[in-house]
Amino acid sequence: MIVDRRHASHIAAALLALGVAACSGGGDLGKDFVAEGVRTPTGQCSVDPRSVAQATPLGEVDGPGACGIRNGWQVTAVNGVGFSQPAKLECQMVGATNDWLSRVVQPAAQSAFGEKVVSVRVAASYACRGRNNQRGAKISEHSFGNALDISAFTLASGRTVEVESGWRSWGAESGFLKQVHGRACGNFTTVLGPEADRHHNNHLHFDLARHGRSGTGTYCK
Ligand SMILES: [Zn+2]
Repeated sequence: MIVDRRHASHIAAALLALGVAACSGGGDLGKDFVAEGVRTPTGQCSVDPRSVAQATPLGEVDGPGACGIRNGWQVTAVNGVGFSQPAKLECQMVGATNDWLSRVVQPAAQSAFGEKVVSVRVAASYACRGRNNQRGAKISEHSFGNALDISAFTLASGRTVEVESGWRSWGAESGFLKQVHGRACGNFTTVLGPEADRHHNNHLHFDLARHGRSGTGTYCK
């Protein structure tokens, strides 16, 4: 596509209006525009995913528009916890998920239920889309493989703790879910749960977006 400068801003505005559609539009203008203000992962990673997860390298995943993963991995289990479906994740998400499972989730499960979490239900990982699947929304960290949604935890006994029904229940399930949500802020930089908004009624969202001027802030709700 050949675009002169006069028309670039109109096209950029049109891409903003299209939101998700901009993802599938392709082209360098869309790529630059959609990525503006969103700091994508660098691809650097502190841990080899194969040392903490069942993971195979995907290399660079080139999605449409701004979407794509710098250092992609196909992950089926982390820290011995199985995934209900393979997740495509940016490398740094694998290490963060491993830390969260070992330092937060398993201790919380032991204290709430006296047993381990053996698997999680993955509701979403890499997906080229706007935030909350809304047209016109800012592009989601899911579009960079930099986010993971979990909707349920299954314990060794086979008991399943659902985010949707457990969050507002009384007792152990609610306490467990609030711990794994509340204490995730530190392993991840964005943590969203049922109290964030109606889009997160049935799952927990974790990502490693950079927040604030220094890029080191957190947004946990
Ligand atoms: Zn999400």
